[in-house]
Amino acid sequence: MTVAGPSAARPGGPAQASLGPESPVTALPRVTPEHARRLARLGCRTVGELLWHLPRRHDDQRRRVRIAELRPGMSQTVEGTVTALRPRPTRNRRLTLVEGEVADDTGRVGVVWFNQRHLLRVLQVGDPVLLHGPAERDRRGALQLRNPVVERGSGTGRHVGGLVAVYPETAGISSRWLRARIADALPVAPALVDPLPRGVQAAEGLVPLAEALRQVHAPESPEQLAAAWERLAFDDLFLLQLGALHARHRRQASRGVAIPFDGDVARAFVAALPFQLTSEQRRAAWEVLQDMARPGPMNRLLQGDVGTGKTVVAAMALRMAVQAGFQGVLMAPTELLARQHFGTLEQLLAPFEILPRLLVGSTGVRQRREILAGMAAGHDPVLVGTHALIEADVTFNRLGLCVVDEQHRFGVAQRLSLREKAGHSPDFLAMTATPIPRSLHLTVYGDLDLSVIRQRPPGRQRVGTRIVGPGDRAEAYRFMHQAIRQGRQGFVICPLVEDSETIAARSATVEYERLRTEVFPDLRLTLLHGRLPAAQKAERMAAFAAGAVDLLVATSIVEVGVDVPNATLMVIEGAERFGIAQLHQFRGRIGRGAHQSWCLLFTDGPDATQQARLEALVTHDSGFELAEIDLRLRGPGDPYGLRQHGLPEVRVGDLLDLPMQARARAAAERALAADPDLRQPALRQALSAYRTVFEFD
Ligand code: ADP
Ligand code: MG
Repeated sequence: MTVAGPSAARPGGPAQASLGPESPVTALPRVTPEHARRLARLGCRTVGELLWHLPRRHDDQRRRVRIAELRPGMSQTVEGTVTALRPRPTRNRRLTLVEGEVADDTGRVGVVWFNQRHLLRVLQVGDPVLLHGPAERDRRGALQLRNPVVERGSGTGRHVGGLVAVYPETAGISSRWLRARIADALPVAPALVDPLPRGVQAAEGLVPLAEALRQVHAPESPEQLAAAWERLAFDDLFLLQLGALHARHRRQASRGVAIPFDGDVARAFVAALPFQLTSEQRRAAWEVLQDMARPGPMNRLLQGDVGTGKTVVAAMALRMAVQAGFQGVLMAPTELLARQHFGTLEQLLAPFEILPRLLVGSTGVRQRREILAGMAAGHDPVLVGTHALIEADVTFNRLGLCVVDEQHRFGVAQRLSLREKAGHSPDFLAMTATPIPRSLHLTVYGDLDLSVIRQRPPGRQRVGTRIVGPGDRAEAYRFMHQAIRQGRQGFVICPLVEDSETIAARSATVEYERLRTEVFPDLRLTLLHGRLPAAQKAERMAAFAAGAVDLLVATSIVEVGVDVPNATLMVIEGAERFGIAQLHQFRGRIGRGAHQSWCLLFTDGPDATQQARLEALVTHDSGFELAEIDLRLRGPGDPYGLRQHGLPEVRVGDLLDLPMQARARAAAERALAADPDLRQPALRQALSAYRTVFEFD
């Protein structure tokens, strides 16, 4: 390559002798403090961080066309010599034009640049140039390159004509600028800590880290670029698996509690239920109870769609813990949900004279004091609550079992501090109604054993689901009106326009006013959103549960924790804005009673993928099937969508690349077997860095 870029003249050299990954970006040539401030917005403060600022994609400009072959309407790469270059006056003062002409042995083509006067300084007639940009016809019908990217040189340039890195940018920091600065930083790459043990790298046939970074920033060929991405992706998945395996080893080695399985107690619990357990509830309960009986701490996830009856299984586990003389807690992400679990447990445990207590944010001071005393002394065996459970002054006498509902809604620190209250490792049971495809299980829950309930209790009706476009609204409102006149109730969920409860609250408020005054003036409506004080929320919810409200207009906070069997309508405004998992959660709020229930997905013009998502909800009923469909619709590697499932975010790795997951898992097992105490500093360091990213306990 023969590019005379301005910065190519000074790679390495004595001036950079002290440059290292920890050096500030300003240690690089041509990086001013102002650049540094802007780079900080991209997360790049040090040279090492700049090297880790990876391209979003690469623009493949390798295919050359000769000038005679240029076609209008598409971006193309040409190589030639500048034969003319001049400014062209315009009447518009804000617009400067530079006009030129480039020739090769097949012909000549005009070029025009807008607002790039500096080109007059950089380029001269006679210079070899690479150009990439769209060809269009000018007024006289001749082809012209319009505002092409240009670089002096021939062959393959840094900015034109190769696999050109395109970066996440910010104001004043363009991809072109980044390419040049990163090129200056690349000599430092060999000094970066390489987290992959040498043995693993060799066994997996991966390129060294420095080489991978070099090829990602400035690829020499598609093959080398692919090898680079493979290496970086492998690192992510390897470290993820290593973290999970290591956590598992540590857990198995730690002191836990054994809560013996008592067959009589289990039978009595089942006999006292007002229904028969489904076979999957029985199997899940069996797995949980067997696991609790082992001396090591249980770490298990109970996964089941809304309404599959997970709480009963948790209640049975708590019953067994109390029998063995331990205390148990159940923690839920919202007060509504905590109250509901509390009600369920009260009922299920009453036959055994176990009285659970409830501790939430709104619990009064006196009562709170009394509950804390009871827990500390060990008089009270079961505590249900929200985050209020993990406040510092909550202590236990003999905590043996922690149940956490919708565990992905809690941070690791919160789950950990619950565990720490035991002074040892209590048994831990997480519950989630957000199923993930089986294939992803190892990735997401590497350190959790899994119990699954797929079937719903018998006799449950299927919720009818319909997509309602703008033209069908009036009809849908008539339909709702009719159901409500027959005594039913319903929800109207308003979309989270942005990731802000304040904005969501506003849109719900507006919709509430509209429905109340214009659409359903004769019905009883109430409004629920996260900005309301807890007491008011509870009050309005209670009114709805008691049947004193016909329609509850809410933000997505009603996602969990509402059990009102008489509610048979679920209207979701702007349904296309929600993901499949969340829509399915909403729908799980209805269909709990004897009457036919309907979920109406209101949309205003979904795009094709959104339409496919909504249709999946119309045809499918099972959260597991929906999760698989969701995965297929997103295609691999959509990190935003994955986060909804509680999946970790990775830099490069594709969590859905199952063959690579398997490879990474096997390699992590080997590495850990070879170095169980993590003596290799690189491995240890990587693990701790990763723990902060992935939140492993
Ligand atoms: P989940 O937490 O999995 O969404 P719950 O545990 O709240 O489900 O159960 C939903 C409802 O189903 C509750 O009213 C519960 O009493 C009831 N239920 C649970 N198991 C059964 C069963 N085997 N047969 C009939 N009803 C059940
Ligand atoms: Mg539940």
